[in-house]
Amino acid sequence: MFHIPLLLALLAPGTAVAESFFDTHFTGSTLRYDYFHTGTAGEEHISLDRLRLEGEWPGRRDRLTDESGLGKYRFSVVDEASQEVLFSAGFSSIYGEWETTGAARGGAWRTLHESQRFPEPRRPVELVLEKRTPDGGFAELQREPLDPASRFVDRSPIPTRGKAWPMIENGPPADKVDLLVLGDGYTADELEGYHRDVRKVIDALFSFPPFADRRTDFNVWAVDVASERSGVTRPRSGFWNTTPVGLTYNAFDSERYMLSFANRELRELAALAPYDALILIANSDKYGGGGIYNLYSTAAAKSAQLPYLIVHEFGHAFASLGDEYYTSQVSYEEFITPGTEPSEPNITALLDAGKVKWAEHATEGVPLPTPWNQDEYDEVSLAFQEVRGELRASGASEARMDEYFAEVAATTGPMLEGEEHAGKVGAFEGAAYQAKGLYRPSVDCIMFSRNPDHYCPVCAAAIDRVIDLHLGR
Ligand SMILES: [Zn+2]
Repeated sequence: MFHIPLLLALLAPGTAVAESFFDTHFTGSTLRYDYFHTGTAGEEHISLDRLRLEGEWPGRRDRLTDESGLGKYRFSVVDEASQEVLFSAGFSSIYGEWETTGAARGGAWRTLHESQRFPEPRRPVELVLEKRTPDGGFAELQREPLDPASRFVDRSPIPTRGKAWPMIENGPPADKVDLLVLGDGYTADELEGYHRDVRKVIDALFSFPPFADRRTDFNVWAVDVASERSGVTRPRSGFWNTTPVGLTYNAFDSERYMLSFANRELRELAALAPYDALILIANSDKYGGGGIYNLYSTAAAKSAQLPYLIVHEFGHAFASLGDEYYTSQVSYEEFITPGTEPSEPNITALLDAGKVKWAEHATEGVPLPTPWNQDEYDEVSLAFQEVRGELRASGASEARMDEYFAEVAATTGPMLEGEEHAGKVGAFEGAAYQAKGLYRPSVDCIMFSRNPDHYCPVCAAAIDRVIDLHLGR
């Protein structure tokens, strides 16, 4: 039978491929390429660490190249003989943030460990890393030959330092979005509480649209791994702890920015379960988190702000959403190169004033750029930033911080809701750490403030699209 959908599938440009293509080129297992990403603002280098065999490939077998266009970098697996691209994936990285910091611009060097996972090829391939160029294309950074039959592929079993368990199963990993939660800073005695935290995190995420409407498109896994001591590293509190996942506050000297710099250890733990996206949760009540596209999102599981943290940070990690806010203190300088269009689906430089990249979602009749009372908002926002600075300097408790967040919401929430173009999609100036020259889709969004209980329509659509890609749609 020759159905219309099949005809459409055959005509779709380079996205859907027959399963036999997968079997021709890949064994069905997962290979991991571990490498060091080293450099400063003007120079970067990639060097091989190791090649590591993991378990079964958890991704799609009929969609192997990434058509999303997301991420600051792109990883590809190229057939050595034919030079055909067999697999590709866009991603962002801690390195990509590091190179925009003042320290990197000042000439400091740093090394970050990174990994790329891909289906194990049957024949020799080349592993290619590319970086986005200002015009939106990609330039090659590194090309690494790989003979999968060589003795340089580590085929040892993954150490069972943690225990993986399924929390929600809706179907085979290849057909679903597989989320994997890893807890950090929980002692063996605290693992029961960790299980409650995992449920809290997942419930928070799936209470939010579009996740709420798409629960059955996901599987959720978790790994139990005990820390010797309770809690994760908080340098500004003088608390240091060696934990299995390596979570630490104060990344890039930003007090509330929580990342793991222990990628090598983290990936070995994660390899115990199938995953498309990693959620790292800390046994901590101190407000903090982070999210990097196609790497992981992090959140303090015991913070009163957990729902906001998990939903906001997962937006970064899952759909490459950019921060829409611009008043908070961050260490990036010119995170987006002036005069270039950002790749983040919810940030635009609006280089073509009458035309916005999310035109399909724009509300009819709303002017571009869209007027809003930015001066008034900035004045209030700046005053709050000063209060926050004082609270930080005085070492205020988390309870006091939560009060502060409530005060901000009580003031700025109604202000933004009262805007003439509230609830509409246009192009509002002020986004991605810049008050001027960058625009966001809606006056408020969970990527902009802690006020709303939703993503703006453009962010929600970007998430829906990534879920669809995982589902082969
Ligand atoms: Zn948004």
